[in-house]
Amino acid sequence: ATGDREMERKTVSTCPFCGVGCGIVVHTRDDRITWVDDDPANPSSRGMLCVKGRFGIPFVQHPDRLTTPLVRRDGELQPASWDEALDLVAERLLDYRGAFGSFASAKATNEDAFVQQKFVRLVMGTNNIDHCTRLCHSPSVEAMLVQLGSGATSNSYIDYEEASCLVVVGCDPDSNHPVIASRMRKAVDDHGTKLVVVNPKRIDLASRADVFLQPAPGTDVALFNGMARAILDEGLEDRGFIAARTEGFEAWRAVVMERTVEEYAQACGVDPHALRLAARLYARPPARRGLPADERPGSCLAWGMGITQHTHGTDNAHALINLALLAGQLGRPGCGISPLRGQNNVQGCGDAGCIPDSLPGYQPYRDDVVARFEEAWHAGIPREPGIKATDMVERIATGEIRAMYIVGENPLLSEPNLAHAGDLFRRLDFLVVQDLFLHETAELADVVLPACSFAEKDGTFTNSERRVQRVRQAVPRVGQSRADWEIICDLARRMAPHVGVDPGQFAYRSAADVFAEMARLTPQLRGISYERLEREGGIQWPCPSPDHPGTRYLYAQSFPRGLGKFVPVRQAAPAAELPDADYPLILNTGRVLYHWHGGTLTRRVQALLDQVSEVPVTIHPGEAERFGIADGDEVVVRSRRGRLTGRAIVTDAVRAGSVFVPFVKLRESAANFLTNNAYDEPSRIPEYKVCAVRVEKKRPR
Ligand code: SF4
Repeated sequence: ATGDREMERKTVSTCPFCGVGCGIVVHTRDDRITWVDDDPANPSSRGMLCVKGRFGIPFVQHPDRLTTPLVRRDGELQPASWDEALDLVAERLLDYRGAFGSFASAKATNEDAFVQQKFVRLVMGTNNIDHCTRLCHSPSVEAMLVQLGSGATSNSYIDYEEASCLVVVGCDPDSNHPVIASRMRKAVDDHGTKLVVVNPKRIDLASRADVFLQPAPGTDVALFNGMARAILDEGLEDRGFIAARTEGFEAWRAVVMERTVEEYAQACGVDPHALRLAARLYARPPARRGLPADERPGSCLAWGMGITQHTHGTDNAHALINLALLAGQLGRPGCGISPLRGQNNVQGCGDAGCIPDSLPGYQPYRDDVVARFEEAWHAGIPREPGIKATDMVERIATGEIRAMYIVGENPLLSEPNLAHAGDLFRRLDFLVVQDLFLHETAELADVVLPACSFAEKDGTFTNSERRVQRVRQAVPRVGQSRADWEIICDLARRMAPHVGVDPGQFAYRSAADVFAEMARLTPQLRGISYERLEREGGIQWPCPSPDHPGTRYLYAQSFPRGLGKFVPVRQAAPAAELPDADYPLILNTGRVLYHWHGGTLTRRVQALLDQVSEVPVTIHPGEAERFGIADGDEVVVRSRRGRLTGRAIVTDAVRAGSVFVPFVKLRESAANFLTNNAYDEPSRIPEYKVCAVRVEKKRPR
């Protein structure tokens, strides 16, 4: 830092977009962000950045940023002082302690998340807190908790480079996790690592694959049970691992043996020989170049929302984890399981306790655990699990949820069946939204509170490899915006005396202060402090003590639940809604490289809008011909729930009979107007990946 206004300042921080957690250097001059560079010292990104990290940061100082609190008066949102807005929120929320829900933000810091869940539990007296993990990897977490006892990625990014085989399932790393994609390509190109890609869409990475499987949407359990059957047929299972480290093998095996590899392959529409080859490569890959002779070749299994966003998403995740247990591909360098995390801090937001079914650190509502929190916080907290995010929205209809406090989320872009979600949100008695921009959900709010972005505050994010990394303030705060944790503390201090809570519980002096409390109460973070993060850089949890170096991979000796558990699963009905005569195509949704999720941030970055400014609708040539659509045509996609307008891309990268649309909102069109609010029962994730649509060329007016 320097007092010379002509000098450029550099602030080392962490990218605010995806869960890879790349290191960035924010360059500023005269308090304006001038450009963003990579941080070569960051161990997660090793000097790499994608287009979003490098060019997507101008949203921070965009003129659309909220600069003052807004309060609805006479039907209009109007500027208000902080005191006026927070007094109103405090007064109203005290009336709704029995009918309240809150969404936390996986874009905010760990400190923001920790304070929010503390406010919800301690002041609002409920465990009704959740975040966007419900919409992305809740089935993975559900399945991993049941089978292993932990919901985290087991390996590190370095393991992709040290693996002898990579199996990449239901995700497109080039679009969604580009720096991980680079590390995977490096493994394939430099080390001869084998690559298996499983995706109904032919993603770019498939061009490098030794085996590419393009199953029919919604047939994942059949595919992975088929791989398991092939491994069993050829005796490639890791019998030592199964005997020593697992339970439930025989019952699971009996289910897998009900069908042959050929029957499984037929069920999901893939070649049985390719299915067998994929199984062989995963279970017993040939050693990659440079692997020490005494090291067993390992395989990494990485998956995304193609697995989870189904009405049987948890079954899909069980089928994958069964494969890892069968092949013994856990607990060593160069292997492991990775649910690739979407948002920058989705791992940290869950770690910090913003989930309805456990306390910070995934600690259960057990008497001894609850007692420890109550002792630290000098007041009681609820012991009943709270309501999950998707159910909170649905239960507005029943009156169980009447007031909501939404931080850094835009459910009216991210929920399925947006027309239905909009109807529900309009029925709330009281809605508070805290965010950077006046987005679709904020427009409905009674009070809008201006939060500041990652570049205007200190804190930490935790990335997909469980690495806790520093976020540092680079520029002054825009307008009157404040850090999320500061706003919530201010609100909590106003409400605390009315509910028997000591306001001093929300009197933190700094983000470091918040982190210190979180680390004290969370065993896997106990050894991490701001002092260590300054000195050593990012540290991977579990890190139970100040002298612990952090953990590269999990499960070396045992699983948190003891033995790994096989869970038998059979292929259920493919999806809640299937094509018919009126809606003859399957819609698959996902993301696009140049935009961040719904686009609330990246729609405000011209360099990214220049790349993609309309919703791309990818359609197979056969279907394009059938419906009279040419590449580049403006098209309308309709489902039973809504419609969107986009631009056709005709390619055989998608399967015949299907259409792919990213869920970014551009020119008022968004895929979630079409998607189906049908849910996976255990996790309550919506089925974003399959619904029935029809496509037609847009007629000139
Ligand atoms: Fe940011 Fe993810 Fe791109 Fe890295 S890969 S620069 S974390 S968006």
